Amino acid sequence: MKPATTPLNASPAGSHAWRPDRFMLIVAHPDDADFGPAATAARWIDEGSEGWLVCCTSGDQGGEDFATDPLVLAAMREAEQRAATAIIGYTGVSFLHQPDGGLANDLALRELLVREIRTFRPDAVLATDPETLFHGDAGINHTDHRAAAIAAVDAVYPASRNPMAFPWLARDGLAPHPVRRMYLFWSNHPTVRVDVTATIGRKIDALRAHESQIRHPERLEARIREWAREEGQEIGAEAAEALRLIVIDEDPTDEPGATETSDDDPTATS
Ligand SMILES: [Zn+2]
Repeated sequence: MKPATTPLNASPAGSHAWRPDRFMLIVAHPDDADFGPAATAARWIDEGSEGWLVCCTSGDQGGEDFATDPLVLAAMREAEQRAATAIIGYTGVSFLHQPDGGLANDLALRELLVREIRTFRPDAVLATDPETLFHGDAGINHTDHRAAAIAAVDAVYPASRNPMAFPWLARDGLAPHPVRRMYLFWSNHPTVRVDVTATIGRKIDALRAHESQIRHPERLEARIREWAREEGQEIGAEAAEALRLIVIDEDPTDEPGATETSDDDPTATS
């Protein structure tokens, strides 16, 4: 229950308040972003951020019938994700068309992700936690989720900021770009919680767009609201999303002579 001192529509104390101007979600499958931090993305976009979604695969193994044409399924899932992306309000979505069930953190995928990062130039990248092999004591994290997660980490650092990584990219005009933060979801070790009371409904609407993947649509809303309620208890919010924050660089300051990475500046916000 909300503390009585928390005014309506205000973030309660303890809610994570930092917001990127630009952020990118990197996920394995269509629907991962929407089961993940979609309400955080929607809140940030409502408050002025620009977001971009990258799906490494198009989910061509996400069915129950071996006779399904995987190309037909991939096209359907891309359409579902485009609809969900519009509901959340992303500026756009990229599909990298890697094989579902066979995603590998190789140099080819890293180059594709570095291209995406250097093109959109996000302050923060969101991905699943690459250290999640099991979900607590229950369930195994999908191999593609783990591959996309570690690929996102390796693309963020050091490749995206290193001009000598894939040097043809810089020669083609894709200048190196330092991502300052990563927010990891589906983590066993979350460190921040974002109050998403105002946008949890959009997350549910976005999830409904993944019609091919939702087996019990009548149970979806209750399930998502219950998860968000549990995450919100710690900060006294009706709904929250839990994330593991990794700060790579402090934010640049406006002070003359301030450096891009103001590690030694005690006034830098974090
Ligand atoms: Zn997935």
